[in-house]
Order: sequence, then C-alpha cells, then structure tokens
Amino acid sequence: MGFSIRGTGLRAVLLALGCAAAFQAAAQNAYPTRAITLVVPFAAGGPTDVVARTLGASMSKTLGQPIVVENRTGAGGTLAASYVAKAAPDGYTFLIHHNGMATAPALYRKLAYNPLTDFAYVGQVADVPMTLLGRKDLQPADLPAFISYAKAQGNKLNLANAGLGAVSQLCGMLLQESLGTQFTTVPYSGTAPALTALLGGQVDVLCDQTTQTIPHIQADKVRLYGVTTLDRIKALPDAPTLNEKGLKGFEIKVWHGVYGPKDTPPEVVARFNEALRAALKDPSFTNRMAELGAEIVPADKQTPQGLQTWLKSEIDKWGPMIRKAGVYAD
Ligand code: ASP
Repeated sequence: MGFSIRGTGLRAVLLALGCAAAFQAAAQNAYPTRAITLVVPFAAGGPTDVVARTLGASMSKTLGQPIVVENRTGAGGTLAASYVAKAAPDGYTFLIHHNGMATAPALYRKLAYNPLTDFAYVGQVADVPMTLLGRKDLQPADLPAFISYAKAQGNKLNLANAGLGAVSQLCGMLLQESLGTQFTTVPYSGTAPALTALLGGQVDVLCDQTTQTIPHIQADKVRLYGVTTLDRIKALPDAPTLNEKGLKGFEIKVWHGVYGPKDTPPEVVARFNEALRAALKDPSFTNRMAELGAEIVPADKQTPQGLQTWLKSEIDKWGPMIRKAGVYAD
C-alpha cells in the first residue's frame, strides 16, 4: 500500500515535472514573443546608435519581433550599463556597448557593476576606426600642421567628447598625452551632439567613429586630419594614420559587444546570439557597415566566449594605461 501510494505519488510528480519542463521548453522555443529593447549608452544619431539600429533591424528579421533601440545616456555610458545589469534577465533587455565597458572600471572609482561578472555575454559585432576631425575653418590644413598648431594652442583648443568612458574621451586622452599638451574638454551626451557642435563651430576638435563621421567627411563639412588605426582604411584611403604622421603607435579601434543581464537563460542567449550571427552575414547590415568603415569581427569573436575573453583582455590593456594617466571620476 505504502509502496503503491509512493508509486502513484512519484508518477504524479514526474508527470508534473514533465509538464513543467515541456512548458518551459515551449516558452523558450517561443522566445521572443514581444519587442526586445536594445539599450545604447549614447545619444541617438551617433556612431554607436547607427551600429545598434542597423544591427537591430537585421536581427529582428531572424527573431520575428522588433528590436527597439533605447538611448540611455550619461556618465560616459556607465548609466546604461548599470541599467542593463539590473534589468529583468528575461531576454527582453540587452545592451550594446563599446570599449567603454573595459575602460570604466579604471575611470570610475565607484562603478555600480562589474563588467566581468554582472552580465550575460552574447557576442561581438564590428570594429570601427576613429577619425580625428577639426571644424571646417580650423587653421591647420593637414595632420602635421595640426600637430604643431595643437602643441602651440594647448587649452585654447576646445575638444568635444561624450564623457569619461567614451571612446572620444579615450582618443582625446591619448592624443593629449602624445602631443604633451592639454586641451579644454567639452563633454556631450554622445558624439551626435558633439559633432553638431563641431559643424556649428562651437568646438574645434573631435575624435569620433567613422560610423558617424564618414558622411560628413564625404560632404566636406569637417577637416579630416587622420585615422586612429595603425594602417590606412579602405573607406578613407587618402586619410593618413596618426601613426604614420609622427604619433608613432597611436591606435584606437572601437569594438562592440552585446550583453544581457547576468541571469538571462542560456537558451535565450543562444537564440539572441544566433540572430546576431545571422545579422553579421546579412548584406543589409554588412554592406552598410563597410560603407561606414566598419569591419565585421571574425566568427570566433561573435560568440559569448569570444566577447568575454576579449573584454577581459581589454580591461587588462587599458586599466594600467588609464591609471597611469591619473584620469578618473569619484
Ligand atoms: N562616439 C561616442 C563615444 O565617444 C559614442 C556615441 O555617441 O556613440 O564613445
């Protein structure tokens, strides 16, 4: 009797467990059932936003649901990262971020999240060069002239950036260090408004990704001094590198990662990653990225492990350099 009761009870439990598992599997297969938010840490219309919106449009074709970009600006991208770290881990909130994910721990003494432990890692997207720009009527016509001019002008030159943690800030910091001079820094909520200020002549210099700057360079609205990669780039073949014109070894490439909150179910991360990898082969994404100077990352970087390993190496690379420069926010 006791055995039979236990047997029946066990069957009931197994049945119930089976149902729960089947229900869970069905829910995961059904994912996503509604729109997904992709948080961008900088202003709409800027270079990170351009990558996010083009990527989101392509990924939504695989996922069958819209990806809605939400711009959560402030504190050089750290507010957006903190928001996503604390969001519900249900597969409906993700973050796209760049090198700022790796530089923030050295730049911010009180960071509300740990980039290496508080996220679910989806994969990397594309690498983007930066361009050093001056306002159209800034006196020096080319990079060597700019270098001497900048050394002489120092803090009379206004340098726009997107706050501490932005790549525009990182580029400006390296530039000032290599020139041995100090500009006056003007922070914005992203480099979209920073570029508007450059076009309007309110600031003198901006270092920004090609995913925003190429159309303005082609329209001859700004002075292009050079690119921040070690070698010249296909999208701007006539632009010299800073490296070749006297700033030896100057290199910044902007990389992008997609993250979810830490406890996002692995099946959901896998599905989101599948959509990401499909987008990285989709001509509507890849052609636009190529026009804007971006390079799709190789397959091994398009994975959760590829992102996590890269992030750790970037934290190890930039941390000591930033600490040495003594730049930080309390
Ligand atoms: N280019 C910006 C940065 O400096 C970010 C942006 O506005 O997309 O990080």
